Amino acid sequence: MPALTDYNLSSLEAQLSGWDIRASHARRLLGAFYRNTGEIDLDSLELGKMLRAKFNGDLKVRQSRILTQSAADDGTIKLLIGFDAGGSVESVYMPAYRADRAAGCISSQIGCAMGCDFCASTKNGVERNLSAGEIVEQFLHLSLLARRDNRRIASLVFMGMGEPMLNLDNVVAAIDRIAHPMMGNLGWKAITVSTVGIVSGIERLAQEKLKVSLALSLHAPDDETRAKIVPTNRKWRVAEIMNAAKEYARVTDTISTIEYCLLAGVNDSDEQAHLLADLMEGFRAHVNLIPYNAIGAGLSGATYEKPSQHRVESFAQILRGRNVITHFRRTRGDDVSAACGQLKQQLIQLGA
Ligand code: SAH
Repeated sequence: MPALTDYNLSSLEAQLSGWDIRASHARRLLGAFYRNTGEIDLDSLELGKMLRAKFNGDLKVRQSRILTQSAADDGTIKLLIGFDAGGSVESVYMPAYRADRAAGCISSQIGCAMGCDFCASTKNGVERNLSAGEIVEQFLHLSLLARRDNRRIASLVFMGMGEPMLNLDNVVAAIDRIAHPMMGNLGWKAITVSTVGIVSGIERLAQEKLKVSLALSLHAPDDETRAKIVPTNRKWRVAEIMNAAKEYARVTDTISTIEYCLLAGVNDSDEQAHLLADLMEGFRAHVNLIPYNAIGAGLSGATYEKPSQHRVESFAQILRGRNVITHFRRTRGDDVSAACGQLKQQLIQLGA
């Protein structure tokens, strides 16, 4: 049975017409649904008898629920969201410095097939793609947390589980709903799609003209190092990926982020910092240095460690010395394992 998050305005209009119900109800219904962050009282909406009756077996309001919710000392809340169609994913709510804003992190797939050696989300492979509606559901859960916290979701990143470019139709359809003024009403600029570097996907997303920001999980500036930790590098090499990202930024007129998870003795040398700076020339992008969150042994059996603070600072200094805008990602919610695929992994280990 479809849920309201499965529709955009025109598909709900078509559905209602198909049921011989006035199509104009679609706008009222979806408007009220999103205005109330997914919490609506059907009986107070004056939907008409026929449409009201559809909610007894043909159409449902929601298709997911919060399975677990853990709050960290810094205000980060990690949700495990279960879907009626089966399976669960993580989404993370992060209050911002500004008192009225928060950031959200959502998933695009259940599990992940990319096999990055330092990432927990990929340890059990990919179970399935999320539907557009299931992606929108995560945004609604996070928006409701924000509302209760007197904030609003002001930025949303696809940096949870999964590779968005391998589920691009649904990711694009979800973004359409999340950005639609009558629905999620979050501007394109506030949305970031993060990819391991699927060149065909980056090219397609550029054609969609959604003008969302792109984050590229580079993690190494040379093919030899990158192939060891990011298996997809065997298919798409660093030069190709960087070209696709640069072209994306040009076509969409957006600023990209290069994500770089520093791993001691693997990708944190001065030489690699210089190589990364070389790659950044002429590219409107920032580097985001991510502290590694220990996940135990990776798929290859290797274990990784965070570099020393001294090493991290030296790496950043080289980049900044070469005029590369460089940020450190704050680690959020690590006392509740909100970082990168950890909660779900814990539940799997517990047999949940
Ligand atoms: N598949 C997409 C989106 C999910 S990963 C992508 O690769 O971008 C989102 C970000 O989390 C990526 O930059 C990823 O490299 C990072 N990440 C994954 N595991 C991590 C870990 N253990 N510690 C720190 N960052 C990690």
